[in-house]
Amino acid sequence: MARLTGIPASPGVAIGRVFPVDRRRARVPRYHVQPEQVESEVARLDAAVKASVDQLRQIRQSLGEGEQSAILEAHGLMADDPTLLEGARLLIREELLNAEWAVRRMVRDISEKMGSDGYLGERRADLDEVGDRIVHNLMGEQPVSTVVPGDEAVIVAYDLQTADAAVLLSSGKVKGLVTDFGSKTSHTAILARALEIPCVMGAGQASEIARAGDLIALDGNTGEVLVSPDHDEVLRFETARAEAKFREASLLEERDLAAITLDGRRVFLHANIEFPEEVPSVLAHGGEGVGLYRTEFLYLNREGLPSEEEHYKAYASILKQMAPRPVTIRTLDLGGDKLPIGHRSHEPNPALGLRAIRFTLKHPQLFRTQIRALLRSSVHGELRIMLPMIAALDELREAKALFEAARQELRREGTPFAEKIPLGIMLETPAAALAADRLARECDFFSVGTNDLIQYSLAIDRGNRDVAYLYRPLHLGVLRMVQSAVDGAKAAGIECAMCGEMAGDPAHALVLLALGLDSLSMNPADIPPVKRVLRSAELRDAKELLEAAMNYSTVDEIEGYVLEQMRKRFPQLITR
Ligand code: PEP
Ligand code: MG
Repeated sequence: MARLTGIPASPGVAIGRVFPVDRRRARVPRYHVQPEQVESEVARLDAAVKASVDQLRQIRQSLGEGEQSAILEAHGLMADDPTLLEGARLLIREELLNAEWAVRRMVRDISEKMGSDGYLGERRADLDEVGDRIVHNLMGEQPVSTVVPGDEAVIVAYDLQTADAAVLLSSGKVKGLVTDFGSKTSHTAILARALEIPCVMGAGQASEIARAGDLIALDGNTGEVLVSPDHDEVLRFETARAEAKFREASLLEERDLAAITLDGRRVFLHANIEFPEEVPSVLAHGGEGVGLYRTEFLYLNREGLPSEEEHYKAYASILKQMAPRPVTIRTLDLGGDKLPIGHRSHEPNPALGLRAIRFTLKHPQLFRTQIRALLRSSVHGELRIMLPMIAALDELREAKALFEAARQELRREGTPFAEKIPLGIMLETPAAALAADRLARECDFFSVGTNDLIQYSLAIDRGNRDVAYLYRPLHLGVLRMVQSAVDGAKAAGIECAMCGEMAGDPAHALVLLALGLDSLSMNPADIPPVKRVLRSAELRDAKELLEAAMNYSTVDEIEGYVLEQMRKRFPQLITR
């Protein structure tokens, strides 16, 4: 038996069989072929190149016109490029290298000649991807997005990209997820929580230790992972699983009651979702609305771009199921760690690059499709629209102008839509939080996105396990920024919500109540414990707690104090 400890990333206990998924670049076998094998090796290479070109053509045909199609066309040309192909054949014939080795060598040689700057640097990344595809075909491997997990599968991976996670986790077969790399606020972790799949991230060498089919147990509350556990350990995990179920059932007794403190302050509890299929879970956990629908997931688990009709169907379905409760749909937040299948960022620093609102404003046609679908769907329920990562007023104004243009277009066509749709923004950068008073004058609501706000204000990559220990929501700087956001909203008379992961931790509930947030949006399963805290609390007491906490200076002191106070008040709920 092997015992590993990682970051608890999605609660719950899972016991199942290891299903390994490897996204690392294929380890390329390197060996010399015998002179008499040369021609069959060349034939193997030619067949893999042909398969790669065919695959790329098929994907491209399914895409229609557009930027992605152009990228794939370029990949197709590269795979077929005589320099690459002839060079690799020559290496097989003259140096007796096996085909995989020959391809890797040629990719490296061509790449070195290209240099790393600007346009040619991007071509280099494309060439790498093409090289990987040919090598995968040589080794007879399927792309991750087409593998089908077996029943009782616990996925064990070095790392799992968001697009792959979206396909695998939504298959309905996966019982749990363990990764060597990654952290709690990566989108893969968020997705696991949304789908209620227990998950441990950053578990060191899990992918090297666990073999396909091994028994594996993981606890997404503690971060514990056991490979090939003995009978007693399995029993211990099963008991923990039963206890968690019992706790949940007791919390759900308050499902239909509002989150009102003993002294009468109401906080609305909304849910974060990634798929329309999650709406029943929102209602089952007592969600009073959807506070964040991450629409970029429409783009992630597929090859082509979604049409206006597909957007419309997804939005209408959520609005109808939730009506008359409010549904906040966020315009797409592509970029960073969320990219469509087959796309890799060519930016040196994607988190600071062309993502979220910047990406959509740069691609107005793509944005127009989404805006039209949003407006059209507004007749089906209480729609609110939210723009991600607004850092400057100009971005908000530019986006509003695009909305206005789409409204006029729909009016001309005679297509109905609601006249008054609240338009809000996410505060995710320090600059926006500090300039909140000005931003508040030109929008209808705020939602604080703490996952990114913490990433950008503390300068911590949210997907990097090595700096995960620094990711601390109760840092004084973060609390002051949230305060600034709330104050800005109050001055302009608009609502201030929070939809980052910070909002779903019951240990933070009194701090957020005292800061004055009007609503909190979280994963559906987090709603009952947060509600229990709020319904047993008093705003006056929460304010005293916050004031005392903010008198400390270090994050250890603040966190230590808040946790100690919360454990005292809610021993059953706050267990860390
Ligand atoms: C956030 O940044 O807090 C947020 C809710 O958005 P996302 O996690 O999708 O970046
Ligand atoms: Mg964000």
